[in-house]
Amino acid sequence: MVVDRTLVLLDVIMDTLPKEPFWLAAIIDGSGVGTWLWNVQTGETRFNNRWAEIIGYTLEELEPISIETWMFFAHPDDLEHSSALLEAHFKGETEFYHCEARMRHKNGHWVWVRDHGKVVSRTANGEPEWMAGSHLDITVEKEQRLSLERLDKIAKTIPGVIYEFRMDEHGNGTFPYASSGIELIYGVSPEQAKQDASLVYKAIHSDDLALVEASIAESYDSLEEWYCEYRTIVNGEEKWVTGYAIPEKNADGSVSWFGQIVDTTYDKGLELELKESHQNLERAQRIGKLGYWRANMKTGELYWSDMIYDMFGVEKGQFEPSVEAFSNAVHPEDIELVRESERKAMVTGMHDVVHRIIQPNGEIRWVHELADMQVQNNNNYLVGTVRDVTEQKKYELDLERLSLTDSLTGAYNRRYFDSRLTAIFHQVKTRDVQVAVATFDLDHFKKVNDTYGHAVGDTVLKDVVKIANDVFRSTDVFARTGGEEFTVLLVDCAVEQAAERLEELSERIASKLFYNGEHTFRISITGGLSQIMTTDNGASESIERADNALYKGKTSGRNQIVLG
Ligand code: GH3
Ligand code: MG
Ligand code: MG
Repeated sequence: MVVDRTLVLLDVIMDTLPKEPFWLAAIIDGSGVGTWLWNVQTGETRFNNRWAEIIGYTLEELEPISIETWMFFAHPDDLEHSSALLEAHFKGETEFYHCEARMRHKNGHWVWVRDHGKVVSRTANGEPEWMAGSHLDITVEKEQRLSLERLDKIAKTIPGVIYEFRMDEHGNGTFPYASSGIELIYGVSPEQAKQDASLVYKAIHSDDLALVEASIAESYDSLEEWYCEYRTIVNGEEKWVTGYAIPEKNADGSVSWFGQIVDTTYDKGLELELKESHQNLERAQRIGKLGYWRANMKTGELYWSDMIYDMFGVEKGQFEPSVEAFSNAVHPEDIELVRESERKAMVTGMHDVVHRIIQPNGEIRWVHELADMQVQNNNNYLVGTVRDVTEQKKYELDLERLSLTDSLTGAYNRRYFDSRLTAIFHQVKTRDVQVAVATFDLDHFKKVNDTYGHAVGDTVLKDVVKIANDVFRSTDVFARTGGEEFTVLLVDCAVEQAAERLEELSERIASKLFYNGEHTFRISITGGLSQIMTTDNGASESIERADNALYKGKTSGRNQIVLG
């Protein structure tokens, strides 16, 4: 280094004072060092040309030269510091006087000099007399050092470490610069990291090391930004850190990354916690068969929670939910009901509807939707839940069916029959549908009970219902309307066809051989047939006509179907 060599030279100067050899002056001039000689006792001072040049002057311009010249150009703060150091040296406390000080340049800016000197002669009573020294311009070096110090100061305010990491083609890494935060991230000092990058690698969680190395290798090859989330272990404590750096290729083939690594343990903890609570919510929703959704009624955009995909029998990722896609899944018979509830929600703010959906595989599910209408940025949002209520609905339908059927035979009861009759009568009136009405009654049933017992009578009734269910279509409405009296509405059926159907029923019943465990016997039925007329005033008129026909059949020999 220049400074060290200068020191050696100075020692030489000291030894040879006062008669300097001519070649020594040449060497000193060549080294770029300013020299000074100062008589502490008399104040006599001598500088070389370089001393003056460092601050932008010639020696002549500085005339007359004295110790005042130095004091004039030196920065007041540094002068104070310098005096203290000189004092210590005079007392023999230091071998050299050594000080860094600012001097004002001719152009007004400050020049940093390294001032280095020594007492070279003393008076008879030991007072310092001649002192010799040198000035070296260290402005550039000092500025660099100050920049680094400044960077360190700024770096301290940043969470984590800022650094330069360099890696050659063989994968050898070094940290030319790392701020003090590296201690927190990796548990090593910047100096340790500078000397041995492997210490940093050692602090990385063994499960994440491969990931980190791979990400660096990838960034090395692609020169794309490096980003990695991983764990480190510092003093036995696990940390989550996030690194981000920008790579730059160097001329020697190595790559330098300039970046930052921050401790994200807290954020990661929150993230993991959030993930867990999200999973818990998902689990709870799964158990409760509950889904969460949000529909933008203006744009038709729809968000579904995972559960809803299952409910609708579609795959997340392959199915794009939208208000339209949802509508397509709604059972056609229920779509109007859903629309109506949506319309109501616009007014009341509440959407509450139970309806069916059809899964792509044809399976029908019942769902209950409960949602709130919310207005946000001029858009109407329906935000709510959907619950799979298929099981409950089945149970409900079972209950409903039970309340509408007869417990002995399983046939529909009069309540059900009456409600259907009203609806069908309305259809006949408005849509010109042909509906035949038939009633029939078992002949001499009292005798069956009396002869074989009530239980056998019950079995006969059950068997009659079985045969009737077989003869009539599912669209027909067949019901047990009395003890051993039955009524049937044959929908979309002309009276002639209905008569044929009744004859078939009558024949099948008549041909059935009943058995009580001991004896066999047969029964017959008498039926009356009519038609719902568009001119009828009420639904009961056609029933009355059929009943009258039945009565006619009873009074004229039974076992026959009579048209009314
Ligand atoms: P008809 O040919 O004139 O109809 O003679 P019938 O004996 O069948 O006379 P009616 O229809 O008036 O008699 C109804 C009988 O049906 C009376 C009752 O004992 C019997 N019955 C009604 N409900 C039940 C039932 O649930 N089980 C049994 N075993 N018998 C019933
Ligand atoms: Mg009867
Ligand atoms: Mg009878």
